[in-house]
Amino acid sequence: QVKGQGKNGCAAFLPHMQTTYLNRLSIENDLREAIKQGDQFELYFQPQIEALTGQATGLEVLIRWHHPKEGMISPDVFIPIAEETGLIVAISDWVLWKACSHFAALSAMGFDNLRLGINLSPREFDRSDFMERIQLPLEEFGVPPQLLDIEITESLLMKDVESIVARIQRLRDTGIHISIDDFGTRYSSLNYLRRFSVNRIKIDQSFVRDLGLSQDSYAIIQAIVGIAKNFKLNVIAEGVETAQQLEILHQLGCSEMQGYFFSRPLPFEKTLEFLKTTPQYALG
Ligand code: C2E
Ligand code: MG
Ligand code: MG
Ligand code: MG
Repeated sequence: QVKGQGKNGCAAFLPHMQTTYLNRLSIENDLREAIKQGDQFELYFQPQIEALTGQATGLEVLIRWHHPKEGMISPDVFIPIAEETGLIVAISDWVLWKACSHFAALSAMGFDNLRLGINLSPREFDRSDFMERIQLPLEEFGVPPQLLDIEITESLLMKDVESIVARIQRLRDTGIHISIDDFGTRYSSLNYLRRFSVNRIKIDQSFVRDLGLSQDSYAIIQAIVGIAKNFKLNVIAEGVETAQQLEILHQLGCSEMQGYFFSRPLPFEKTLEFLKTTPQYALG
């Protein structure tokens, strides 16, 4: 039994253990090495789509780790370990700087109004210098704060409420956007939506996956879209894989989407190709 694993860390760890038996400690050590070297990490981008037009409005940035011996290790495996060991701080910095440099390259090619969705761990908000850490790469690469969309999970909003409210407000004051990731999966006391100044909620893919199969998921998504409307928040659905899900979501009033139906997360070069291609699936 490995000590200190959260429920999620454990669930995510199991599938990988079955194949290669990389233990937690060696992941931690290898992660340290990877952070030192830098070139084992890569950023993938998943387009976020305005369903009516098929146009990309943003890109979610998703880290990939090419382990020298084990091949690709999923962020679901190593991010929880990075969070528990504090290594996440260095990883987040790397992600922010790298993503901003990619933004500059996209911008130079004319794609200068895509929002960049960056996943930040709750740990990030504990750092006293968190504002500088976020703003520095934006300034360095000329990324307008309005085009940074920070994805946080509900768990962040549950702890140390006063200081988190203040920190999120400071980010919002600079124009930075905030999305709540995996909305509906945690213990949601909707009360926090009143207190936190966020821009958008992301409907978790588990609800989207069951659309058309379960009445419950339909009702939950309907409720989430209603909440978003009432709180004047934008809403985006994650994990859209089929035309049927697209149709239902659209009928329910969710107009922004992300998922394999449109595109898998892509490496940078492929992202460019995607952006240059005319969308095939406008709802019209
Ligand atoms: P997330 O932020 O909720 O990201 C969505 C995950 O769903 C991604 O998995 C994405 O590849 C996957 N996905 C997207 N569309 C579909 C679909 O249509 N069907 C299915 N089945 N899956 C889809 P990924 O890239 O493996 O990332 C997993 C999680 O790891 C992310 O969940 C996020 O919590 C975390 N993560 C990824 N990159 C970073 C990062 O740079 N920093 C931090 N702190 N966490 C990250
Ligand atoms: Mg996310
Ligand atoms: Mg998510
Ligand atoms: Mg997630």
